[in-house]
Amino acid sequence: MNTDKSFSRRSFLQDRAMEVLDAAGTEKAWADPVHPTNGGEHLLGTCRMGDDPATSVVDRYHRCHDVPNLFVCDGSSMVTSGRGQPTMTIMALAFRAAEHIKMAASAGGI
Ligand SMILES: Cc1cc2nc3c(=O)[nH]c(=O)nc-3n(C[C@H](O)[C@H](O)[C@H](O)COP(=O)(O)OP(=O)(O)OC[C@H]3O[C@@H](n4cnc5c(N)ncnc54)[C@H](O)[C@@H]3O)c2cc1C
Repeated sequence: MNTDKSFSRRSFLQDRAMEVLDAAGTEKAWADPVHPTNGGEHLLGTCRMGDDPATSVVDRYHRCHDVPNLFVCDGSSMVTSGRGQPTMTIMALAFRAAEHIKMAASAGGI
């Protein structure tokens, strides 16, 4: 039995990826075996950032379109990774959000 905690997660995600490829009509798809690893994952996405509430969850200051007093300041706003290591970008965006929250609170907007 494999005790690597990320093994089942990566197997699950690989299965979903194959399903996406199949649904997209891919003619040839293959998956390399999932191996145990001590490496880390970059967990991003699920709360897309954008100006349009119809296609995004948070605005440019991480404020939820649907819940105005809720700010989601983590990697979830980045549905793709602009560079290999995301944490500095997550931190920079969080600092920017904090400045905005401070200004909005001072102006009575929160
Ligand atoms: C082994 C490893 C190595 C990595 N190395 C790098 C690297 O070198 N460079 C890099 O840029 N990135 C690296 N990453 C990725 C980076 O750590 C993550 O992308 C980043 O930390 C994500 O930030 P986040 O704020 O979205 O989530 P997290 O940093 O995971 O923060 C989520 C926080 O929420 C808390 N939490 C969860 N559930 C609850 C709850 N119900 N109530 C209250 N609190 C809760 C957690 O305790 C945690 O503190 C690595 C990741 C791993 C696992």
